[in-house]
Amino acid sequence: MAVTVRQALMQAGLAPLDAQVLLAHVLRRNRAWLVAHGDEALGNDDAAAFFGLARRRRNGEPVAYLVGRREFWGLTLHVNPAVLVPRPETETLVALALEWLPADRPVRVLDLGTGSGAIALAIARERPNAQVVAVDASTGALAVARANVAALGLRNVSVLASDWFAAVEGTFDLIASNPPYIRAGDPHLAGDDVRFEPIAALVSGADGFRDLRTIVAQAPARLAPQGALLVEHGHDQAESVRALFEAAGFADVTARRDLAGIHRVAAGRKRP
Ligand code: GLN
Repeated sequence: MAVTVRQALMQAGLAPLDAQVLLAHVLRRNRAWLVAHGDEALGNDDAAAFFGLARRRRNGEPVAYLVGRREFWGLTLHVNPAVLVPRPETETLVALALEWLPADRPVRVLDLGTGSGAIALAIARERPNAQVVAVDASTGALAVARANVAALGLRNVSVLASDWFAAVEGTFDLIASNPPYIRAGDPHLAGDDVRFEPIAALVSGADGFRDLRTIVAQAPARLAPQGALLVEHGHDQAESVRALFEAAGFADVTARRDLAGIHRVAAGRKRP
């Protein structure tokens, strides 16, 4: 028995938005089309593909992996399970980076642990006079980041294999990172969506601070005079991250809340 678009959406057992995004993906239409064509019958192959994706979504797989892309800062990014799904709170970091980055001269920007390339690509798109270096230690992530650079046609981003600063040369006006910051064994890791994401992009040692400590301690040597470091961190890490910035000698140490009102980004400037 053929099902209509409307029936398929109702029978999926999903939040309405998730069901619409998945069906629109299968049919290669947009969500507005679905609304206007609720009475149209689905072909058997499309119905089977849709209900297969719906089952995977009910099992917790991120919609972004099921459709292979995610919007970030107005950009459509390819994603797959080699990279973290870009999150809205990371746009808070991009917004602060654009406030702090001088707009009136060529600048060098480094994105540590770029994953899909989200932070690097957002800054590169906003600032054509910025040369952005995006690094990751994961081969799978580098492939995704390179595909996104190519798809967006951005000439001012280079993608480099590096374990944090290890293979990076020169100094930067701004260093940004959304590193792993969850403690090993945190129950959050077993939740839907998150348990399908790469553990190396999420977990940072027994206390969640292993990578933040490395990045904050090593950044001053990689910053130009007055250069800025910005990092994303966990919902309960703001005070500890501020202490790391102060111990590393940063000035103007700043905390920024995400859209949920949680301190989520820390920033500081290298002292002149
Ligand atoms: N904010 C993500 C989460 O809570 C974690 C991202 C990260 O570790 N950088 O799932």
